[in-house]
Amino acid sequence: MKKLTKMIHGGIVGDEHTGAVSIPVYQVSTYKQEGIGGHKGFEYSRTGNPTRHALEELIADLEEGKAGFAFGSGMAAITAVMMLFNSGDHVVLTDDVYGGTYRVMTKVLNRLGIQSTFVDTSNLSTIEEAIQENTKAIYLETPTNPLLKITDIEAAANLAKKHSLLTIVDNTFSTPYWQTPIRQGADIVLHSATKYIGGHSDVVAGLVVVNSSELAERVHFVQNSTGGILGPQDSWLLMRGIKTLGLRMEATEKNTHKIVDFLVGHKSVSKVYYPGLENHPNHEIAKKQSGGFGGMVSFDVGSAERAAEILEKIHYFTLAESLGAVESLISVPAQMTHASIPAERRKELGITDGLMRISVGIEDADDLIEDLKRALS
Ligand SMILES: *Cc1c(COP(=O)(O)O)cnc(C)c1O
Repeated sequence: MKKLTKMIHGGIVGDEHTGAVSIPVYQVSTYKQEGIGGHKGFEYSRTGNPTRHALEELIADLEEGKAGFAFGSGMAAITAVMMLFNSGDHVVLTDDVYGGTYRVMTKVLNRLGIQSTFVDTSNLSTIEEAIQENTKAIYLETPTNPLLKITDIEAAANLAKKHSLLTIVDNTFSTPYWQTPIRQGADIVLHSATKYIGGHSDVVAGLVVVNSSELAERVHFVQNSTGGILGPQDSWLLMRGIKTLGLRMEATEKNTHKIVDFLVGHKSVSKVYYPGLENHPNHEIAKKQSGGFGGMVSFDVGSAERAAEILEKIHYFTLAESLGAVESLISVPAQMTHASIPAERRKELGITDGLMRISVGIEDADDLIEDLKRALS
């Protein structure tokens, strides 16, 4: 099945009881048993809910994994995956990971004895140097946020296998429409489904897909034990979003290429970060492992003051955190999404005060470019 078809026909399709072509929202917490233990696969909705189950089957199908799991947010999904580890275990992560991932690793999970090291995973030898005796996993984000760095998933997964480590990939930016890390050797793929998968800025959710039954059992155990599940209504909204994921990713891609061309040619933009640019250091790897370069672009306008001026004038790009929705969004990472990273560390990473990040939506590209032109003038 080709990807566009899978978005519509993957997972569980419709409702066999009524013929409804949309999965019903099973707004229910418990299920009648015909005798003790005599249930129809569902006992209690933290453990399993038919609407959530349909979403979990669909995302497993799209990511080409063995099983999927839906959580109440991307951070709940990430935390649940980290709960696979024990006190004393160590994880190597991409250095410019999502701010919330950095925060949970260094302010919460560290207190439970889960250790982490953040390195530039776009450099394989840097990953290898960070591996310790107690390392259990390599955690990648590619492309990264907001500098759009690219890690070679296959090479990192091979390195992980050599050291008997799990490879975990946050695939939020690329989505399974463009990139399927399990195919490149990843063991666990996760998402903030709040972004492209939901796609309409109306739901907060997280998804996890694993590549083996053994991992499926372990993640389900954590999901059921810690309880950070996604509710039925939000599960339904994600399935609705997924139906147009391919169309939205294609439209976003087209718009983004046009906007990047415009930004690259603009005199008051000093630097443009986008994996689709031929001068991006890992452009070839991005091309190899992903069908598209996505809708996230960062560019430097020089200073926080200049960024503030642009925000005053811009109209179609909404100033907001988050990304990956139908409407275009703009943000200043140093003051917003990455404010939880200490200033010193931000500087090390290259997240300057004049760095602006856009998430390109599916409006008409001409309007978006006109808007940027006016704001940058
Ligand atoms: C937003 C985001 C998260 C966190 O997800 P929430 O749904 O906000 O909890 C994790 N990773 C990436 C790459 C994100 O963009």
